[in-house]
Amino acid sequence: MNTLLKEITHLFFPQSCVVCGKKLLPTEEGVCLSCLFKLPKTNNFKDPENQVEILLAGRFPFERAASFCVFSRGGMLQPIIHQLKYSGKKDLGIALGRLYGADLSGSDFLKNVDAIVPVPLHPKKEKKRGYNQSEMIARGLSDVTGLPVSKGNLIRKISNPTQTKKSKIQRWENVKGIFAVENPSAFVSKHLLLVDDVITTGSTLEACADALLECPDIRISVAAIGEAL
Ligand SMILES: [Zn+2]
Repeated sequence: MNTLLKEITHLFFPQSCVVCGKKLLPTEEGVCLSCLFKLPKTNNFKDPENQVEILLAGRFPFERAASFCVFSRGGMLQPIIHQLKYSGKKDLGIALGRLYGADLSGSDFLKNVDAIVPVPLHPKKEKKRGYNQSEMIARGLSDVTGLPVSKGNLIRKISNPTQTKKSKIQRWENVKGIFAVENPSAFVSKHLLLVDDVITTGSTLEACADALLECPDIRISVAAIGEAL
């Protein structure tokens, strides 16, 4: 939508912030700026022994791993992620990615990273949703850091049922072997930043890493918007 049309639409259909309920300004999308700046940030990219790194340690080799915010039931991030995934608010993903990108820019965390790789959705699911929410986050990160987004090389071969009601072992059984790399030579000797929306058990990331590690001399780092640990 162009800006004028957006402003007119906003005038007749004012939207409210999904977190605090306040009316949004025409320039705000889904969440008001004041809520975006109050997000429960972890800042754990500065800490090489953070909870995400502890969670993933020993499961696959990685350089660094971090999460932007704490994701808790009833917390600030929950309605935002819900809108991003289920209400077509893809701009929220871009906004979150930009905020996180601003924190990560110039830090050691992104040292030597060559490209950002969003956790892929199965093409059928992406078509249904209209976009991949992790790709929107990746795009926001890319806007700020200047790192390219690699899409379409890491693919999801199998559309697995939802993970939410499954145990840790069931989740791993559910995702094992569902990802693949289409053209491994494109990822040879690359350091990739794998991007997900929310880390819960880490099994989706582990399954992605499993596929990525087929590429010779690859290095992997991990960044998620939320950690629900
Ligand atoms: Zn708000």
